[in-house]
Amino acid sequence: MAEDEQRPKLRRENVPMPKQKPEERKHNFNEVALGYSAEQAVAEAERCLQCPNPQCINGCPVEIEIPTFIKLLKERRFDEAIRELKKKNSLPAICGRVCPQEEQCQQQCVMGKASDPVSIGRLERFLADWEIERGVEIQTSNKPTGKKVAVIGAGPAGLTAAADLAKLGHEVVIFEALHKPGGVLVYGIPEFRLPKRIVAAESDYVTKLGATIKTSSLIGRLFTIPELLRKGFDAVFIGTGAGLPRFLGIPGENLGGIYSANEFLIRVNLMKSYKFPIYDTPIRIGKKVAVVGAGNVAMDTARSALRLGAQQVHIVYRRSREEMPARAEEIENAEEEGIIFKLLTNPIKFFGNDKGWVKQMECIKMDLGEPDESGRRRPIPIEGSEFLIDVDTVIIAVGRTPNPIIQLTTTGLETTKVGTVVIDEGTGKTSLEGVYAGGDIVTGEATVISAMGAGKKAARSIHDYLMNK
Ligand SMILES: Cc1cc2nc3c(=O)[nH]c(=O)nc-3n(C[C@H](O)[C@H](O)[C@H](O)COP(=O)(O)OP(=O)(O)OC[C@H]3O[C@@H](n4cnc5c(N)ncnc54)[C@H](O)[C@@H]3O)c2cc1C
Repeated sequence: MAEDEQRPKLRRENVPMPKQKPEERKHNFNEVALGYSAEQAVAEAERCLQCPNPQCINGCPVEIEIPTFIKLLKERRFDEAIRELKKKNSLPAICGRVCPQEEQCQQQCVMGKASDPVSIGRLERFLADWEIERGVEIQTSNKPTGKKVAVIGAGPAGLTAAADLAKLGHEVVIFEALHKPGGVLVYGIPEFRLPKRIVAAESDYVTKLGATIKTSSLIGRLFTIPELLRKGFDAVFIGTGAGLPRFLGIPGENLGGIYSANEFLIRVNLMKSYKFPIYDTPIRIGKKVAVVGAGNVAMDTARSALRLGAQQVHIVYRRSREEMPARAEEIENAEEEGIIFKLLTNPIKFFGNDKGWVKQMECIKMDLGEPDESGRRRPIPIEGSEFLIDVDTVIIAVGRTPNPIIQLTTTGLETTKVGTVVIDEGTGKTSLEGVYAGGDIVTGEATVISAMGAGKKAARSIHDYLMNK
């Protein structure tokens, strides 16, 4: 018999992710995607072709040896598979849940040319969860180098830089402004997409590798970067993200009941207002909610509002579905849960009641013109198409920029007009000796995996710098 005839036929479709049903999940904050069982994970791993020249690795900013860990998983050698994965990625349970794999490793997967690509992210999540359930193994670090690095910000960029530097034997102290590590992973992305216990387990892993996390420590106020360098730190990594919300700048935006997505999500996620009064942060939601924007932040906000009891939640977006920046999976989830999409629609004014609370939003219909500098078709208002939507709450999710505190307190740190830090692309080095940066503070708001890739790259450069100092 020819070899091809003996080989079992590969499934064209991926193993579907078990999920909570929309009718159930829209009333709770429990995780929507339930994760693969061992059998499902092995079945999905069997779809990997083990290409001799794997393309998927090229799509992974943290350089995971994807076919190697999938082969180990397929052979049910789960402990070796997770060890392989964690050689490069210290936050696999987080990445397996929120990394946009469809635009990264899975986009490069050869299987994806004629069928579904291998669900690399789901396999990563399976292994990471499998390990968290059984107790996380700590990979031994190198001998101490005697060098000390300050990492500012405990988001994915900072945690990754810290983990890699600690593994190389450096003493690492992470300074985090909030009372919990995780950055957007803990204050932005809701529990139903990324449970807080997962973020806690993986930031805990970073501390077990040897890094210390000092929470409630705002750099720029507690110490400045020059002070950190004078205090005995040999290098600094800035991973402070882009946490300052943008607004629309239209009349009525200061009325009560209009939140930035940042404030709304921080109340819901970090301060657990969805458990009010057990937790003491309240949130006012009403019956009709409009969320302005169509990225991941907007989807998370709209779906949180629904879970908080809103009867009708609109996503209002000035472009069409094709231009929506959110992950396709999250748009589908939102639709399944009953979020209403008002596309090609732009708010122009808010009206309030006599007590100063928003009650109506005036919108205008939009058309799409030629592509703008972002490559997306430019929205153009259609004259005379104005209309009103009744609202109790409006949440603005139209982007975020860096908080300027570090830039304002660090003389000589080169920044751009929009406040991002300028670095050398190849090394992550800033204009200051011994100071590196990466993640959203450099790129503006981007993705978890790009922030992690930047943290990894900077850790490598910091190591070279310290070893040659
Ligand atoms: C609601 C939401 C949903 C998202 N969903 C996705 C998704 O599904 N997939 C995806 O890939 N990306 C998603 N993103 C984007 C992604 O989360 C970010 O690109 C990523 O977190 C950036 O990582 P970072 O480490 O650069 O910054 P951050 O995650 O912002 O972390 C920066 C940290 O630095 C701290 N900090 C700031 N200033 C100081 C200071 N002066 N001193 C000390 N600490 C400081 C902050 O408190 C924060 O903890 C989402 C973003 C949001 C807001």
